[in-house]
Amino acid sequence: MSRIGRRGTRPERKLRQALWKEGLRYRIEPKIPGRPDLAFIRARVTIFVDGCFWHGCPLHYSAPSTHEEFWAKKLRRNVEHDIEVNDKLRNLGWHVIRLWQHDLNLTSLIVPRLAHIVREIGPNKDGQVELVTFQDELANKAASRKAAYPPWYYCSCGSNDVRILEVSGPGSLRTNADLSPQGATCVCLRCRQVFRRELEA
Ligand SMILES: [Zn+2]
Ligand SMILES: [Zn+2]
Repeated sequence: MSRIGRRGTRPERKLRQALWKEGLRYRIEPKIPGRPDLAFIRARVTIFVDGCFWHGCPLHYSAPSTHEEFWAKKLRRNVEHDIEVNDKLRNLGWHVIRLWQHDLNLTSLIVPRLAHIVREIGPNKDGQVELVTFQDELANKAASRKAAYPPWYYCSCGSNDVRILEVSGPGSLRTNADLSPQGATCVCLRCRQVFRRELEA
């Protein structure tokens, strides 16, 4: 696989270009736990752009109808790995920002927020940082668009930094899908609660 191909999709490159234009200098895939897509070394900020399928996006995950068991295991492993990586990085004093692939449509919102974090918040000194997330802000923005987040998306702690751990039955979580799973088990990345959601037919 070519070096260029491995280093991000087109929307990812668009985000990187916008950050560069903003005067922010980052490293691509630095050798720290989880190999984040981007990192701002001095500010100790890491950024992951997580694919909606591979990391269990509550809006876009689609469970394949063949090899169901294989994909179910794969999804759970990926999400558990994300949580482990978040913990490792936070314990090392990094800020962790996880964006969804679909968030990259909102580059104009993301870039100023990232610039603020990188320039103002700075390195964590206590060795323990809060998970910094855009998800609430992005949802507000999305609410005025077609892609408003459904109420079931939210954890009872109020966070929508939520991932799918498991779905019952094949199908897509997209609103207008022909086939949808009966329900989904989710995990909240903020409070770590695991909860079940039934989906309307
Ligand atoms: Zn998504
Ligand atoms: Zn929660």
